[in-house]
Amino acid sequence: MEGEKVTTLIQARITIPDKRTAFSGTTTAPLFAWPWEHYGNYKYLFYVALLAKYLYPTTTTEEGTEGSSWCLHILLLFLLRGLLYQLWSSYDYMFFLNRTRRISEEGIDFKQIDAEWNWDNFLILHAIVAVLAYWSFPSLTNLPLWDGRGIFCCLALHIGVSEPVYYWLHRLLHSPNLFTDYHWLHHSSKVSHPFTAGHATFLEHLVLCIVIGVPILGTVFIGYGSISILYSYVLLFDMLRCLGHSNVEVIPHHLFENIPLLRYLVYTPTYHNIHHMDMRTNFCLFMPVYDILGKTINTRYWDLHKEISSRKKTSAPGFVFLGHVVDIMAALHTPFVFRSFNSIPFSKKFFLFPFWPPTFLVMLAMWAKSKTFLVSFYNLRGRLHQTWVVPRFGFQYFLPFAADGINKQIEEAILRADRLGVKVISLAALNKNESLNGGGTLFINKHPDLKVRVAHGNTLTAAVILNEIPRDVNEVFLTGSTSKLGRAIALYLARRRVRVLMLTQSTERFLKIQKEAPEELQKFLVQVTKYQAAKQCKTWIIGKWTTPREQSWAPSGTHFHQFVVPPVIPFRRDCTFGKLAAMRLPEDVEGLGSCEYTMERGVVHACHAGGVVHFLEGWKHHEVGAIDVDQIDVVWKAALRHGLKPMQISPAIGG
Ligand SMILES: [Zn+2]
Ligand SMILES: [Zn+2]
Repeated sequence: MEGEKVTTLIQARITIPDKRTAFSGTTTAPLFAWPWEHYGNYKYLFYVALLAKYLYPTTTTEEGTEGSSWCLHILLLFLLRGLLYQLWSSYDYMFFLNRTRRISEEGIDFKQIDAEWNWDNFLILHAIVAVLAYWSFPSLTNLPLWDGRGIFCCLALHIGVSEPVYYWLHRLLHSPNLFTDYHWLHHSSKVSHPFTAGHATFLEHLVLCIVIGVPILGTVFIGYGSISILYSYVLLFDMLRCLGHSNVEVIPHHLFENIPLLRYLVYTPTYHNIHHMDMRTNFCLFMPVYDILGKTINTRYWDLHKEISSRKKTSAPGFVFLGHVVDIMAALHTPFVFRSFNSIPFSKKFFLFPFWPPTFLVMLAMWAKSKTFLVSFYNLRGRLHQTWVVPRFGFQYFLPFAADGINKQIEEAILRADRLGVKVISLAALNKNESLNGGGTLFINKHPDLKVRVAHGNTLTAAVILNEIPRDVNEVFLTGSTSKLGRAIALYLARRRVRVLMLTQSTERFLKIQKEAPEELQKFLVQVTKYQAAKQCKTWIIGKWTTPREQSWAPSGTHFHQFVVPPVIPFRRDCTFGKLAAMRLPEDVEGLGSCEYTMERGVVHACHAGGVVHFLEGWKHHEVGAIDVDQIDVVWKAALRHGLKPMQISPAIGG
């Protein structure tokens, strides 16, 4: 097995106690916390001050003007450094590009994302130190743009001072006391990510200021300093820090085979990841030669690097949820754009609007070229669950000429899942639209020999909605009543002897559904053609967009259950509105760090949960087309048995 060695190494990882609780409050070691830890986004005010200082210099002397340009350089450098880390982060999350070369196959969970939320604290610290350096050493103000001699000087100081100093300090940080007081925090990130590089204590980053500062200041004091060296060194330093903490092996092994010396001079993502897995080896900053000199290099590094960098295959998922992009703003919340925003429920953010035009162009490019791709994953009970995305946006599903293209994408995804050995592929949202492909029936008829099971998951959606309806309700008003879900809800409620007022203009379609019910229960299904018919009914189940005027017919105190996407706007202040059917994934889910659109953390749409249950139960039937009403209770009980939980009904108050 290709991944065997990596797995063994991961298993060998020393367990790191979660010290956050142990070090709460006053017991924290000195200089552990960041001085601005409790100031939230106000910490960025420092940069506003720098900008103000640049725009409105307090002095007009020559010295004053120089001081202002320094502010601009510090600001620019901050932005460039932030951008560099962000780009690495994005690349790390592009699973569709790098899934075979991932070092740890685990996912980054919400806990790690939260812990690393303020990964950029060190950028602020470095900017502050830069300002102090400018005040302390006036020679920094008159740097030329370029001085070629500086390259060698800076390089010599890095190799001769920064590398050995970091190596010994890092080893010191692994001594029992310093590790328990400080360095455990950096090692508490389970899966390495470029932001992990910033996830360390204040003290460690102060020390890092010396490591990064010596080559810059040294070069200036020797007289070879320049603006170019400053930018280049800092950005190269960041590049290499990101490289080491990336979870993707990007350095090809044949590079080391062609230039053997290089392997002693530059580390790789595998190299530093080994340090995170087995903390007794690979301490160096960027150059493995120091680990060789200190006899701390991991002997399995070369083999492991070769194995990961040349890996062609990765574990196949057991379950795939096949989604699509909702709209441009939602596209900006995918993990490889901004992982922080992806880790919280979707909401519109005004500061993302400038990204709208470029994302629109990406949408067009995806329409023309892209294939279905992997966007996120988690593990449940030892099996990999992935979310794939059809490269189409919501509005495209309403364009008649786009339908064939979309079905082709879905069909190709199903066939790919079949080839990979996926057990269940679940169609999300509009991918299972009746008018598009008959709720998935099209693909089953076309490919009768599929080994992968195709599911729309709507049996569980129906079950969730039905279980939210109190047992003592004896009459409901149902809109969208002849749709896939509407039909199943009506037939199920009739069995429970609940009178269902089915809003539909089509008597033919109503009668077709009514005839499906046993004769003695048919009287519970009543066709109505106007909203007025429900003015006495306090339980509305709406599967169709409902206008303020239509909502106005509901009596005061009505609860609106809904299966309409997007959910209706709650216009009535005196009524309550339920959320879309959803379930919380079992608590033992691992590596989950993505929110599914507007869903809370750990919660997925009921149809996604339906696919998971189909997979966990190992059901051999396809779940396509009309909902089997007999299955509703079966699916519901199976979901609860596997630890999926219905969401608390938290009605949104209208208004
Ligand atoms: Zn360490
Ligand atoms: Zn590290």
